[in-house]
Amino acid sequence: MHKVAIVGRPNVGKSSLFNRLIGRRDAVVADFPGVTRDAKEGLMLYHNHRITLIDTGGLWSGDEWEAAIREKAEWAMEGAQAVVFVLDPREGLSAADYEVAEWLRRLGRPVVLVANKIDSPKHEVYMAELWGLGFGEPVPISAEHARGLDDLMDRVMTHM
Ligand code: GDP
Ligand code: MG
Repeated sequence: MHKVAIVGRPNVGKSSLFNRLIGRRDAVVADFPGVTRDAKEGLMLYHNHRITLIDTGGLWSGDEWEAAIREKAEWAMEGAQAVVFVLDPREGLSAADYEVAEWLRRLGRPVVLVANKIDSPKHEVYMAELWGLGFGEPVPISAEHARGLDDLMDRVMTHM
């Protein structure tokens, strides 16, 4: 069974991406941080592959749930062939994004870097900064407008 975990700081669009990929609105999407605290599992099909997708809570949220959310995310990544690390380059990289990057490096899982909220080609100018995280080329997507999802899944499948 293929397994993929979605991680990142709060509000970058992890749950929006999860919902898009599984084709339902299971995960709560909201305009403020800290809504998803528990990990949520869903099943998706991609080119006849069954993939278990896990949406996790926002990392380095700075609230009282931080340690518990991180522990849950580590649990979600166990046995995952790939970790999708979601960022919002339109906001710019934050301290929390760098903390997540360091944590992922320590855990040593294969990472696919995702630049979300690239709703139109004009937003691609914001992506250059993401190279500095050290995970290679970011995949531009828009969870909201369903852009770039096949490119993302093709990248994910290279780790299967
Ligand atoms: P999470 O905290 O990482 O799970 O983020 P959510 O999925 O809850 O989304 C946080 C906010 O970002 C919500 O207001 C979403 O509507 C918005 N959002 C998510 N994906 C996109 C996108 O591709 N483009 C834009 N413009 N907004 C998005
Ligand atoms: Mg969420």
